Amino acid sequence: MKRRNLLKGLAAVPLLVAPVWRAWAGAPSRGSAGVEALQKSWKDFLAQGADVALTTEPLKRSKDEWKKILTPAQYRVLREEDTERAGSSPLNGEKRPGVYVCAGCSLPLFTSAMKYDSGTGWPSFFTFIPGHLATKKDYYLVFPRTEYHCVRCGGHHGHVFDDGPPPTGQRWCNNGLALRFIPKAGKA
Ligand SMILES: [Zn+2]
Repeated sequence: MKRRNLLKGLAAVPLLVAPVWRAWAGAPSRGSAGVEALQKSWKDFLAQGADVALTTEPLKRSKDEWKKILTPAQYRVLREEDTERAGSSPLNGEKRPGVYVCAGCSLPLFTSAMKYDSGTGWPSFFTFIPGHLATKKDYYLVFPRTEYHCVRCGGHHGHVFDDGPPPTGQRWCNNGLALRFIPKAGKA
């Protein structure tokens, strides 16, 4: 009897899960297929001859080398996981088509089609260019947060939260100082 009840219980699980999955797959404007297409077509947003890194091969630089390349504020964010003041980045209001690359190594991380206005004061994105960001948990605050960084140079970019818009529900909250924007039209 016990075993039969267990089987009954297991059989009921898909019924509980299915409506959630349907809501996800059936999102009206940008379904998960739409997000995948956005991720795959990121090069469509790249200006011709743009100065970007097209390899994720790790880039190692010494502290001194980074200090020569980056401004002191960029160094603090990218290399020491600092957070810029909310509302301080000109990229908050950036709406032109184009690509956002890592300010440390020029690896493309987001496109303008992945950006949205979160109202937080930091450039925010609901998805990213696959394979170009990696995450880890950090414990600077009482509760753990998910930090993310560039896979090429290891530079810290921001934190990812689960209060973003549909269909991903993700908010990639990025320091503007860690990004360089390359508009599709015009010079980088
Ligand atoms: Zn980088």
